[in-house]
Amino acid sequence: MARMQPYFLRASMLVTLVALPVLVLTQSGGQVSDRARQLHDRAIVVDSHDDTTQRLVYDKTFKIEARNTNGNIDIPRMREGGLDALFFSIWVPSDVTGPPAVKKALDQIDAVREAARLHPNDLLLATTAADIRRAAAEHKIAALMGMEGGHMIDDDMRLLRDYAALGVRYLTLTHFKNNNWADSSTDKPAHNGLTAFGKDVVRELNRLGVMVDISHVADKTFYDALAVTTAPVIASHSSCRVIANHPRNMTDDMLRAVAKNGGVVMINYHAGFLSEEFRVASEKKSGNIVAKMDAMSKKCGGNEACTTMEGERIDHEAMMSGELPKVSWEKIIEHIDHAVKIAGADHVGLGSDFDGATMPLGMEDASKLPKITDALLKKGYSEADVQKILGGNILRVMEQVERVAQGGGKAPTTQR
Ligand SMILES: [Zn+2]
Repeated sequence: MARMQPYFLRASMLVTLVALPVLVLTQSGGQVSDRARQLHDRAIVVDSHDDTTQRLVYDKTFKIEARNTNGNIDIPRMREGGLDALFFSIWVPSDVTGPPAVKKALDQIDAVREAARLHPNDLLLATTAADIRRAAAEHKIAALMGMEGGHMIDDDMRLLRDYAALGVRYLTLTHFKNNNWADSSTDKPAHNGLTAFGKDVVRELNRLGVMVDISHVADKTFYDALAVTTAPVIASHSSCRVIANHPRNMTDDMLRAVAKNGGVVMINYHAGFLSEEFRVASEKKSGNIVAKMDAMSKKCGGNEACTTMEGERIDHEAMMSGELPKVSWEKIIEHIDHAVKIAGADHVGLGSDFDGATMPLGMEDASKLPKITDALLKKGYSEADVQKILGGNILRVMEQVERVAQGGGKAPTTQR
């Protein structure tokens, strides 16, 4: 979820939508080489961050089994784009805390589990790397869960264990605001990183085999988490700060630190995290866009799925009319390539933020994913490296995190 609350503080929002069937039909034909399509189909493609859960719970028009005319994700478009596994985000806004946040989190966990139960020919509820491989072998899409924001544990380690038991496989330590034990990258420092309880949360995550996700956290929280964890970490949806200077993105030093830890940085496709020009312009939105957002906010009345879909439409229209700079999907490749240069091809992956962010032009939905494989091959990447970036790296990290948990959480830092 790239959105901030309230919406006018956001870096920006989503794009997507509207009637792209023609583009979709031509995409798998002309724009992608046969070699890329074959490699893409052979690879296990994993996306570590999708906000589609908001639609499952709060959008009565959404059917995951149908090809929808808005949003970025559904079964037909995942199939078309060769997406083999996705982490459904369990996300509650940072300002919803305590029991209401827990209730909302449980509603969303239930929605993901029910989606898998009701579509057994297409989805397989997965909690391990082996489950993802099994789903791919059975030509199903692995449905996983990541929890975006430590405030949902309500400062209670028992809830963390409950969420893990229900299948949550990563915890993003914060969302856009600080919680009681960790500082966020988009809030004023309150704890100097992680508190003693926050460090215990990291240790408990290691013990449970739940990945520590450092997307969204303050830089100090990032370094504190790395100092405590005995397993590799992930950045489930973050891009490169040297290209787009947003605190949600990773500095080169952070990229190197994740590589040393054995973890993986999953590149976010949000236009405001990809393009510095878009980021700056979207922070000074015109009165016209602000007025449209105001009207939309009133109309949606706090329904997050509505806010996302409508905000996406407004940002997309602003890009097309020139009110906001146009951002091409090729910026995703620029970020992947930079992260690979700094951290190495073993430490980079894909964390789209689909259904929660402003997609760049040309990456309107999951059906466009083979273009990434095609572009990396054209850049001279080896097939082995492309397969790692598409999903091999996050599978390796999951296996290492599972091994640390099996060792009781006391194993030394993996990799090396
Ligand atoms: Zn997010």
